[in-house]
Amino acid sequence: MGAKREADYKGRLRGLRTLLGDKLDALLVSDLKNARYLSGFTGSNAFIIVTRDEAFFLTDPRYTAQAGEEVKGFRKRIFRKALDEISALVLEKRIKALGFEAANLSYATYRKLAKALPKARLRPAEGLVERLREKKDPFEVERIRASASLLDTGFRKAARLVRAGAIETDAAFSIEADLRRRGAEAMAFDTIIASGARGSLPHGRASGKRIKKGELVVVDMGVLRDGYNSDETRTFATGRLKPRQREIYGIAKDAQAAAINAIRPGARASDVDGAARKVIERAGYGKFFGHGTGHGVGLDIHERPSLGPLSEDVLEEGMVVTIEPGIYLPGYAGVRIEDMALVTKGGCELLTKTPKELVEL
Ligand code: ZN
Ligand code: ZN
Repeated sequence: MGAKREADYKGRLRGLRTLLGDKLDALLVSDLKNARYLSGFTGSNAFIIVTRDEAFFLTDPRYTAQAGEEVKGFRKRIFRKALDEISALVLEKRIKALGFEAANLSYATYRKLAKALPKARLRPAEGLVERLREKKDPFEVERIRASASLLDTGFRKAARLVRAGAIETDAAFSIEADLRRRGAEAMAFDTIIASGARGSLPHGRASGKRIKKGELVVVDMGVLRDGYNSDETRTFATGRLKPRQREIYGIAKDAQAAAINAIRPGARASDVDGAARKVIERAGYGKFFGHGTGHGVGLDIHERPSLGPLSEDVLEEGMVVTIEPGIYLPGYAGVRIEDMALVTKGGCELLTKTPKELVEL
């Protein structure tokens, strides 16, 4: 592999400025993932203010050196009290209409800011940077690809460890330790290992249950690597299954294939969901598939777009989405199969590659 790609932070700022429209003079970015996206900063305390022709990066003294290394192309300010520095900057730059990230900035902070800036118009802005983040650039695709491929090694381990006799949490711990050794910064979320009837809980975190013979076991994991998340689910079988278990596995697999087939630039996210849902409904299990078919993945484990029946999102080349239909029969069993797909010109490419054939060991 050659040298790592550099992120195009200038291009991202340009993109954000086009979204400011004529209603906002500047945007105050308080969401740390958004701040990382715009600047490359990986620390835990920062604000960014983007005006039409300038960009300011604000952090506290713990991060002076780190910001010096990571953040280029911004005017930097080190603060003792973030709100004082933000207010001073807004006054100094004569910013009148300041957008803030309504989904992130707390009401308490908003009130303090409004008090400090009685003459500024504070405008709730939603999803501006998030909209840019929907489409991944080559820098991000490279990282997401690496995160997904690391995760695949965890599933190879899972295929060996998720066996009759193992305890769910023990298996989870061994897989997680292995992933951490191989370069995962953290797990993206609490690992789900849900065997037998527990599989009918779509978010059944690994428990003290011992896995039995002849069960379906839902394993849903994700890792964080280089700031980027991955997300994948496989359902394993521990020994010979009953016809009904085999039936729901086959339906979920067909549903997933139908959704993957429907992915292309210009496709409505709700239609991709519909493709999976139709397969499950026609097989008579419609009411046992309660969640949406997928979601975007990137700096956040769940981000835009959303692939559900009510979504208004439209897929575009460069988006990375999960496709994860499932069937959950309460008290009996569950199955879910999830891959990450990169939307390409001609359709999509799967970034997670663990085999999906049901192996009844
Ligand atoms: Zn998942
Ligand atoms: Zn997911």
